[in-house]
Amino acid sequence: MPMYEYRCRRCGAKYEQLRRIADADRDLQCPYCGADEVERLLSAFATAGGCGAPSGGFT
Ligand SMILES: [Zn+2]
Repeated sequence: MPMYEYRCRRCGAKYEQLRRIADADRDLQCPYCGADEVERLLSAFATAGGCGAPSGGFT
């Protein structure tokens, strides 16, 4: 399940949510103010497991 990032147009809050692709734009509601004026941002998928981790990065 991909992680999506949303932003509320009313209060400006940003939050992330795990959603099914089919539900990505469905029933959006801001958890802070309850508005349904929420837009989905182009967000990075949550990479589980660490495939594609940069080699030799962590020190
Ligand atoms: Zn809001």
